[in-house]
Amino acid sequence: MQFLSGSLLELITQTSTNLPPDVRAAMGIAIASETPNTQSSQALSIIASNIDMAQEDEGPICQDTGMPTFVVHTPVGVNQIHIRKAIQAAVAEATKLGKLRPNSVDSLTGKNSGNNLGAETPVIHFEQWEQDEIEVKLILKGGGCENKNIQYSLPCELDHLGSAGRNLEGVRKCILHAVWQAQGQGCAPGAVGVCIGSDRAHGYVLAKNELFRTMDDVNENPELAALEARIIDEANKIGVGSMGFGGKASLIGCKIAAANRLPASFFVSVAYDCWAFRRLGVRMDASSGAITKWLYRDPERPVERMTQQEGFPLTGREVFLTAPVSEEAVRALKVGDVVIINGDMFTGRDAVHAHLMKNPPPVDLHGQILYHCGPVMLKQGDGWVMKAGGPTTSSREEPYQADVIKNYGVRVVIGKGGMGAKTSAALKEHGAVYLNGIGGAAQFYARSVEKVLGVHWMEFGIPEAMWHLRVKGFMAIVTMDAHGNSLHKEVEDKTGALLETLQKA
Ligand code: SF4
Repeated sequence: MQFLSGSLLELITQTSTNLPPDVRAAMGIAIASETPNTQSSQALSIIASNIDMAQEDEGPICQDTGMPTFVVHTPVGVNQIHIRKAIQAAVAEATKLGKLRPNSVDSLTGKNSGNNLGAETPVIHFEQWEQDEIEVKLILKGGGCENKNIQYSLPCELDHLGSAGRNLEGVRKCILHAVWQAQGQGCAPGAVGVCIGSDRAHGYVLAKNELFRTMDDVNENPELAALEARIIDEANKIGVGSMGFGGKASLIGCKIAAANRLPASFFVSVAYDCWAFRRLGVRMDASSGAITKWLYRDPERPVERMTQQEGFPLTGREVFLTAPVSEEAVRALKVGDVVIINGDMFTGRDAVHAHLMKNPPPVDLHGQILYHCGPVMLKQGDGWVMKAGGPTTSSREEPYQADVIKNYGVRVVIGKGGMGAKTSAALKEHGAVYLNGIGGAAQFYARSVEKVLGVHWMEFGIPEAMWHLRVKGFMAIVTMDAHGNSLHKEVEDKTGALLETLQKA
């Protein structure tokens, strides 16, 4: 198996950096369907650029490279222990090369292993089959969308949709609810893999397995095929839009499996994946480990660019900010404004926020910009280079953010998916603003980092440390202003009302 390690490393690299053609095509349809010159269309144009940049630079499409999950089929007689070890070695190597972010954290100590290896990580499922070759499929699904997975136990009552019973109509309501509850936090437009039935644990496995179907695959079961098509149509009428900014493009795929269940249980398990839908697969020669075929790719078709131009066009209406930012500048901003940041900012997410509750920051944060981001960083010489750095889901910082703003004078918070009422009140009281970056646009934002100026609290691990960045042309949209307005709340209310309309139609 002299080629096995190289083949697995190539699979991981390609999965992390090169979005598969079927997902590109689905994203192309989403982009074409969106109303031009809206916040959603701006977000989509950045996403499209980001997809191109990731492929050109062989950098991670999104900084959150997720929990690597492998599904391996081997001929009878192939040594699976050997393959498991090779996968683990390839994962560690890909992490060292910056193709994967160190994402494996000890759940008891909070310590990041630094190489994506640890108890039950990566996830590897083995199956035997009666073919001669080895097949390895890989999906990289990040935490933002993983946190929006949801499981329903029917019958149940759903917000805006009422009662969901133990039938396909009840299932339909659950899936629509799943898309609605994700809002922008799962980096819409997303896709859902669904399992009807099974038990709680296996239902989620089967739901995730559905994400291995191509976007254009039609379900063999005509009833489920019809439901998949109906969900795509209806979900794109709810109005969540890209990043939850409101708009037409909310869902790019829906794949549903049905499994037998216990008479007493009726679960609907939904695996929500984001637009950065990274999954690929290879067939390998069982004696050499050499790749014989790529799955999800057409060797006849070269990778097509998503855009003709890089970045997004400026309109002249953008607001430019440089830290330290004054209260006056922040109070002049309103929801919908596009902001371009030049100058310094600091990253901080879960560990930094929790630590700041009991400890002072290592730098003066008055007037500063705090970026919810867990980047991929590589050491080069004495310095660091950001390899991927889009925003992370901000709602996790909701318990802390108001205190951080109040106690340390932070003026600008950047993340994705929006924050809650407590943060909104703090923005208003203390004169601060929340900007929504484009989730998953890791290469787009990494290119805006001119220099990594330093790092604090490195003991939290690379994604959780506080990185001091110098940026140029860093774009984000005001979604929560200092006057109590929140685009997230507005879109959630509007989309909820639309769900109700859909239900009555
Ligand atoms: S695109 Fe968004 S949800 Fe998807 S992995 Fe990246 S940050 Fe997470």
